[in-house]
Amino acid sequence: MNTEKRPFSRTILLIYFLIAGTLVFLTAPRTTSPSRTVSYSEFLKQARNGSLSKVEITDTQFVGTVKTPEGSSEPAQVSTSRPVSMDESWLLQELAAGGAEITVRRGSGNWGNALPWYLGLLLVVIFLPMLAGRQRMTQISSVGKSKAKLYDQYSHSTVSFSDVAGVDEAEAELVEVVDFLKNPQKYTKLGGRIPKGVLLVGPPGTGKTLLAKAISGEANVPFFSISGSEFMEIFVGVGAARVRDLFEQAKQRAPCIIFIDELDAIGKSRASGRGVLFNNEEREQTLNQLLAEMDGFDSSSGVIIMAATNTPEVLDQALLRAGRFDRQIVVDRPDIDGREAILKLHARKVKLGSSVDMRKIAARTPGMVGADLANIVNEAALLAARHHADAIEMRDIEEAIDRVMLGMERKSRVMSPGEKERVAYHESGHALIALSVEHANPVHRVSIIPRSIGALGHTLQLPTEDRFLMTRTELLDQLTVMLGGRAAEEITFHGEVSTGAADDLERASELARQMVTRFGMSAHMGTLTYGKPLAGRFLRSPFSLEERNYSERTAEMIDDEVRTLVEQSYRRSLDILNGRHGELIRIARELIQRETLDRPALDQLLHETTAA
Ligand code: ADP
Ligand code: MG
Ligand code: ZN
Repeated sequence: MNTEKRPFSRTILLIYFLIAGTLVFLTAPRTTSPSRTVSYSEFLKQARNGSLSKVEITDTQFVGTVKTPEGSSEPAQVSTSRPVSMDESWLLQELAAGGAEITVRRGSGNWGNALPWYLGLLLVVIFLPMLAGRQRMTQISSVGKSKAKLYDQYSHSTVSFSDVAGVDEAEAELVEVVDFLKNPQKYTKLGGRIPKGVLLVGPPGTGKTLLAKAISGEANVPFFSISGSEFMEIFVGVGAARVRDLFEQAKQRAPCIIFIDELDAIGKSRASGRGVLFNNEEREQTLNQLLAEMDGFDSSSGVIIMAATNTPEVLDQALLRAGRFDRQIVVDRPDIDGREAILKLHARKVKLGSSVDMRKIAARTPGMVGADLANIVNEAALLAARHHADAIEMRDIEEAIDRVMLGMERKSRVMSPGEKERVAYHESGHALIALSVEHANPVHRVSIIPRSIGALGHTLQLPTEDRFLMTRTELLDQLTVMLGGRAAEEITFHGEVSTGAADDLERASELARQMVTRFGMSAHMGTLTYGKPLAGRFLRSPFSLEERNYSERTAEMIDDEVRTLVEQSYRRSLDILNGRHGELIRIARELIQRETLDRPALDQLLHETTAA
């Protein structure tokens, strides 16, 4: 621990300045009475006729004190500038003759008045750089210190395994890791080697950070926690110094756990992403230091390094090889049971009404992670509070799911009747096709109330089960549904289409491209993959780059195949809607009136139409 000298010396300086300031204030001469500036000849006249009682002569001026006649409110002093180099002996005689008392002040005057101020300025000039210098020095000496938060036996994090649900396998593996630390001989007795590094891998929001915190609460050993981005600073070399400091501290406190969150911030592959945008040198130095430190001790020393990332594929291979982060624990998206458990866990903090069925909610939220589910429970609580309910009911949760999935309802948007009609037909197109094709996710609701930015309406389809695989036919059905909005517009408005389908078209193109380049689902292109994704197995961002490993000619063939897939699906959309044109009109008209149709209303409508 470095002793803090700084506040002490700073106080001294502060006091110093205060005293200096006070002195300056006190010694600064003040003119006690206002003096009226007069012309030289006027001053002479007054001196001659004896109306001045005193005259003070300074380097720059004459100041005369006027004999006050009774009842006069004249200023008590008059002053005038003193002419430069002029024989004044005659003036002195006249003053004396006039009866004035004469004093001469050498070296005073304006210069003298200002002197304390110059002194003050001098102090500032001398001490300010010193003060700033001190500060810079202390700053620099603390940048190399790791910012790791230490949780030890006395300051436990309050999180425990009971706050984590739905990720049982990961939890079980972590419990084992903690056991390594507590009873190492149990494992080394048989010649086994305790893992040095444990990497938590999984999509964002699945509870990796939460699990690490829970470990810190359960392990009963000191726990150093730091985020990868905290190693990074503008100064090159700081990150490396921090890593060194962190491991030094940890070795002193062994057995203990080091947890590096967001490892990808420092662990990105040294080969990839050499760009001008990022401070690569700094990251490489930090990474090299981390690798060196991990090699520098063996796990019998009782330090286990945990890290978390959601992009393991960008990590440098050196980090993943044996002897470093050699054990990977996958924290995956929860299945339906997991989601139910997580929902129940978060619902402990809120008041639930009798209508709430957590199993149903879990069934409605495939693909959602712990963070989403926690968010849903919280949103539902806020919604219930808004309409002054005593407890959260099912409809609050339904609305909360919509909010988390689709964004807020934005009723305030005013659409013209023409636009409203167009959106109604567009959404009806999606819905009707989803109801027609065999493998689409069931339609839950169709609405012309905008939810997300840019969208004008929405058709909500919900899967009935967790899906891990999709067949080609299912994907083709999905494509057809995506294009249904545009097809409905084309049919209804006689070819006059709008910008409303931009998002649908983008998603359809992307899906078709993946079918061709990733899933080997095009007869022409064969069972090959094209292009190597550089980032994001879990995190598919729009900026994920692709390394091209095929020729220009192949690129053209891929484009052709993608276009064919989309065009075929679009034609299928048109065919379906042309075949059910009456129903399309029926749904759209109803939608214009009621704005939102849920599944029962849709079924009823279609039943009536076919019966008629
Ligand atoms: P990650 O680090 O994987 O991105 P976090 O651990 O930060 O995700 O999770 C964010 C929040 O989501 C947690 O604080 C918690 O409230 C909730 N959460 C996520 N996963 C779970 C889980 N498995 N069980 C309970 N709550 C969870
Ligand atoms: Mg995290
Ligand atoms: Zn659409």
